[in-house]
Amino acid sequence: MSFDSLGLSEPLLRAVNELGYSSPTPIQLQAIPAVLKGGDLLAGAQTGTGKTAGFTLPILQRLSQLAPVTGGAKRPVRALILTPTRELAAQVEESVRAYGKYLKLRSTVMFGGVGINPQIEALRRGVDIVVATPGRLLDHMQQKTIDVSKLEILVLDEADRMLDMGFIHEIKRVLARLPEKRQNLLFSATFSDEIKALADGLLDSPALIEVARRNTTAETVEQKIHPVDRDRKRELLTHLIRTNNWFQVLVFTRTKHGANRLAEQLGKDGISALAIHGNKSQSARARALTEFKNQTLQVLVATDIAARGIDIDQLPHVVNFDLPKVPEGYVHRIGRTGRAGAEGEAVSLVCVDEHQLLRDIERLIKGPIPHEVIPGFEPDPNAKPEPIQRRSQGRGQAQGRQAPRNGEARPNGEARRNGEPRRDGGRPSGEARPANGNNGGQPARDGRNNGKPAANPGALLGGRRNAERSSNRGR
Ligand code: AMP
Repeated sequence: MSFDSLGLSEPLLRAVNELGYSSPTPIQLQAIPAVLKGGDLLAGAQTGTGKTAGFTLPILQRLSQLAPVTGGAKRPVRALILTPTRELAAQVEESVRAYGKYLKLRSTVMFGGVGINPQIEALRRGVDIVVATPGRLLDHMQQKTIDVSKLEILVLDEADRMLDMGFIHEIKRVLARLPEKRQNLLFSATFSDEIKALADGLLDSPALIEVARRNTTAETVEQKIHPVDRDRKRELLTHLIRTNNWFQVLVFTRTKHGANRLAEQLGKDGISALAIHGNKSQSARARALTEFKNQTLQVLVATDIAARGIDIDQLPHVVNFDLPKVPEGYVHRIGRTGRAGAEGEAVSLVCVDEHQLLRDIERLIKGPIPHEVIPGFEPDPNAKPEPIQRRSQGRGQAQGRQAPRNGEARPNGEARRNGEPRRDGGRPSGEARPANGNNGGQPARDGRNNGKPAANPGALLGGRRNAERSSNRGR
């Protein structure tokens, strides 16, 4: 199957061709015709499936074919794409530009932490497509610097992540300000009850698409558990990287502190590693990401939220240094590897404290993950589990959930610790580009499902029932 048969116009096909895409991915095959038809869409797809082109290409086509209802001289905002993080917003907008290279549509990206004036200028000059994180978008709405009264298409990208990050109120406030009549596209990797409720209120008889059920394990990702004692994880990681000669290793830790410490220790082991998380400046994160992409940096250690939206093709190795506290997080993490059909490897270093988390993950992905004990790293059979939460807090890590103070949030949506200085809107000195300070960002809420049974990941059927039942658009 080629792109030619999907009903896309010549300028879009030319751009896709230049990018070297020979055939559409499964999500693109289904989403492109569905979006071109003009109806609402509920899509189950995660990063790495090609979902961005799945919604961007048909949006560009629709906007270029339908004349804007200007109602004035100014170019109205016609499509709005909301994403959970600034990185993802930037990447999506880059895609909009790349795919729309031969069209005359204009786009812009906006997120918090950076100066608002250039964004206001761009809006004043007129843009057709806005890619934004919810907080900064609301700022513009409140300041009346953005006019969304002519909006035709709304996309909620990675909606599950937006909810995980506590954006539900921002999303509702944004929705309340949009015109009633519009096309809505909701993309989510998982389908919790919250997502279903959101879809129920937002979507009108949506087309339903579910692809690459990575939640039931991606065929292209080889998954493995290495049981190990909690205090020997770093040693085991160094051993694995050295003996297998791994490059481009994305390592997940549960906390920012853990990410820093691990990167430092790997460095001492002679392995080049940097940490990215919400306390790092935007320029530091961009630099780490560039080096990682160029393969001058061997290991990138990231927290879940910081890693969100890292778009690197064919990332060969993902390591869960700590298991995520929410089972769906595992699916998101391993979605970083084995992308677009490439082979990948996801290994998890699991200590006795994490056995319950592992059971939750295996229940979610509906099957056991193969275990392999590495000789020399056999775990102590008499080791007693320690509660993860207490242990982390004891080390002064930001594990707790603090309610955000009004309007407060931390860059990149990660939780601000008590006593930490405010940084939203603050510009860390010496930065080429300031930290996000995504004003709409909320404290991380990655522990919210702890202890609850795993959400049914592929429960589009439930979503379908909800979605079809509803003609009540809760905007
Ligand atoms: P996404 O899931 O949108 O984050 O896309 C994942 C990666 O796949 C991006 O780097 C895209 O450039 C790439 N990609 C998207 N569509 C295709 C395609 N049809 N063929 C090859 N690569 C693609």
